[in-house]
Amino acid sequence: MKKYNFNAGPSILPQETVINTIKAIEDFAGTGLSLMEVSHRSKEFDGVMDETVALFKEILDIPAGYSVLFLGGGASLQFCMVPYNLLEKKAAYLNTGTWASKALKEAKLFGEVAEVASSKEANFTYIPKDYIVPADADYFHITTNNTIFGTEIHQDLDSPVTLVADMSSDIFSRPVDVSKYGLIYGGAQKNLAPAGVTFVIVKDELLGKVSRTIPTMLDYRTHIKDGSMFNTPPVVPIYAALQTLKWLKELGGVKEMYKRNKEKATLLYDEIDRNKLFKGTTAIEDRSLMNICFIMNDEYKQLEEDFYKFAVSKGMVGIKGHRSVGGFRASTYNALPKLTVQALVDCMREFEKNN
Ligand SMILES: *Cc1c(COP(=O)(O)O)cnc(C)c1O
Repeated sequence: MKKYNFNAGPSILPQETVINTIKAIEDFAGTGLSLMEVSHRSKEFDGVMDETVALFKEILDIPAGYSVLFLGGGASLQFCMVPYNLLEKKAAYLNTGTWASKALKEAKLFGEVAEVASSKEANFTYIPKDYIVPADADYFHITTNNTIFGTEIHQDLDSPVTLVADMSSDIFSRPVDVSKYGLIYGGAQKNLAPAGVTFVIVKDELLGKVSRTIPTMLDYRTHIKDGSMFNTPPVVPIYAALQTLKWLKELGGVKEMYKRNKEKATLLYDEIDRNKLFKGTTAIEDRSLMNICFIMNDEYKQLEEDFYKFAVSKGMVGIKGHRSVGGFRASTYNALPKLTVQALVDCMREFEKNN
């Protein structure tokens, strides 16, 4: 049976990424060796690293003065690396979900943290908009897409201080004005590559300003200096990321992705709003284009398990909502085709007819 992959992360990747990576795992760049067996310092892999950085910069239109790094440790390590490198006295955080809360908690180890606003009291169903970022903060940290709760900050915010963003689950889903940010990071396993690599886009001039001693591996300058090769980088996920970037460019880049992502999300949100059995969980203006959360309407609550089983029987994978929201979550990342969303919509309609 055809499987429709709505996993939240690790998640669906372009077929090209999977197939080209398999080929390179068998025979990398005509070396007769597997991608898993070659030195990361070989000229062939060096070429992969250079091309991945170049394409990453090109597709996101990253201005001069920024470095792009590929590191280990996941986005979660960035929760600590960011304050380690940037927090001298005080940082500001917008608390919009589980990941944002974790980032904030880590920053508290390094200095004063101002939580400028939080939607926790409403189970993170909206993005707070009325808040003041203290002008004496070293940076302001946001999570642009809240993977678990299905909300998203749709604009590049104007911030009076350096803006830092966790873009784990919406990187490359829309055009971003990188010049408005001092640092952007994310785990690659949502929209780019298999798990194991973390991207960091950092404005070089921000570094070297804090007075603390930074362990070598946690200092961004180490990785800038050595082109993400201070230690052995995760070669297979980086190779896969390059395949995804090539696929993205071929299709028309982030503008085209944004158009497609809006179409896909509209298709599903329209059905959630129309179908008598379901309702959305978040404020409409903050609805995520990447993670679409929905629950049964109150009078149909008892059908939740039945719908889940029905959807699974139709080939839907990964649509169970996160335990902190319940219900369902369909992640509609870049690589997910519109036809897959249509299949879920058809499934919701059929279930409505039967009930
Ligand atoms: C998945 C996710 C993380 C955690 O990423 P890891 O690479 O597993 O550490 C952090 N932030 C957001 C927004 C995420 O979606």
